[in-house]
Amino acid sequence: MRRVFSHHDRFMVYQAKDVLDAAGIPCFIKNEYAIGGMGELAPFDTQPEVWLSDSQWLPRAQALLKQIHVSEEYNSGVSWVCSKCEEQNEANFDICWQCGNEKK
Ligand SMILES: [Zn+2]
Repeated sequence: MRRVFSHHDRFMVYQAKDVLDAAGIPCFIKNEYAIGGMGELAPFDTQPEVWLSDSQWLPRAQALLKQIHVSEEYNSGVSWVCSKCEEQNEANFDICWQCGNEKK
């Protein structure tokens, strides 16, 4: 077994598993409920993780998950300023949250 993905955001972990499921790669989630009951554990240790049942899938899984990582980087990337109202928007917004103007 091999851990292939972990993220503090459980949604990202589910998304990663969906991608692997869709590709027919056997995998499962560990620490699924860790965030709900963190207790004394360090946050890093309680991150939900996606594991492969068989490490032979690793190269394929990593290639698929790279797409998620790319979009993740994009999301946390450069913020932009609306050309209409000059409001600052996060990189993952395609339209201005203030006035609805499209990202240029
Ligand atoms: Zn705007």
